[in-house]
Amino acid sequence: MNAMEAQQKIEALKQSLEQYSYEYYTLDAPSVPDAVYDQKLRELIELEEEFPDLQTPDSPSQRVGGKPLDAFVKVQHDIPMLSLGNAFDDQELRDFDRRVKNGTDNEVSYVCELKIDGLAVSLKYEDGVFVRGATRGDGTTGEDITKNLRTIRNIPLRLEEPVTLEVRGEAYMPKKSFIGLNEVKESNGEEPFANPRNAAAGSLRQLDPKIAAKRNLDIFLYGIGVWENDSSDSHSQRLEKMKDLGLKTNPEWKKCNDIEAVIDYVHSWVERRADLDYEIDGIVIKVDDLDQQETLGFTAKSPRWATAYKFPAEEAVTKLNEIELSV
Ligand code: NAD
Repeated sequence: MNAMEAQQKIEALKQSLEQYSYEYYTLDAPSVPDAVYDQKLRELIELEEEFPDLQTPDSPSQRVGGKPLDAFVKVQHDIPMLSLGNAFDDQELRDFDRRVKNGTDNEVSYVCELKIDGLAVSLKYEDGVFVRGATRGDGTTGEDITKNLRTIRNIPLRLEEPVTLEVRGEAYMPKKSFIGLNEVKESNGEEPFANPRNAAAGSLRQLDPKIAAKRNLDIFLYGIGVWENDSSDSHSQRLEKMKDLGLKTNPEWKKCNDIEAVIDYVHSWVERRADLDYEIDGIVIKVDDLDQQETLGFTAKSPRWATAYKFPAEEAVTKLNEIELSV
């Protein structure tokens, strides 16, 4: 492909991806399965790698999420809420491990977590009191959805200790609630939600908190933006402390001492995910040591110390079809 053909292809890909992102992030109503979006994004990244002059700062390959809705008060994140790099097979996980080791010059342990398919949110606590909740938005600016988040019972309004922190997690809709909600929507002649992720996002991005209150939403907290006076050395220590504070963490996380153990963990969840009462779309792998995380740092879009293994595309499409058929 020559540069002119590449430019045309890149423009076409950008246009489709922007349209899909608008439908997904702003309208909470995607028109294509995630696998289609992921495949086009990958094509775009590969072309931009081959023709680096054609990469622009506004490319979907460089941007996080979507524009916050004007109806909400905007929240500036103290620390950006980024996306994650992806791995689609074992080899890509080993490539990630190689990059991490090259960047740290040391032995590395990982924490593996379920990748919950919901809406990324940030919760701010001052002296132990929940004061503000926001969406990720475009990574820099999110939407203030405090009132809606207060309706989620598993979000403590006061922590066990008077700490000041900004914690991050995924608000989600359990599978059962999703099926029930769509049944009601359909019987009212309304358009059903495409999947639990969009149902959770659509419920939390409502101006009336009574709607969110009725939707049986839940949350798992998995990371920290800012934690004043915290002395943890590792992500795993932080997960333990978060739990002690009363923050709901997912119990399935596991510390792995090398990438082969990570791969075993990933494989073990390909089948088992169906048994969970919430949707996951992959596994998140994070370097455990916080000093090593700092050394590795971030790209414009994602941390270099973490990646998301995405479950196989075929399965993702089948799953989406199954959901569509079952509601
Ligand atoms: P991502 O979903 O691939 O990864 C980042 C997100 O993972 C974080 O923001 C966080 O919300 C979430 N996450 C869940 N569990 C986590 C955990 N344990 N630790 C850390 N993070 C965790 O990236 P993205 O930028 O949010 O979105 C891309 C996704 O959205 C892709 O799956 C893509 O297919 C989908 N998408 C689909 C369409 C469509 O039209 N179908 C359009 C745009 C995006």
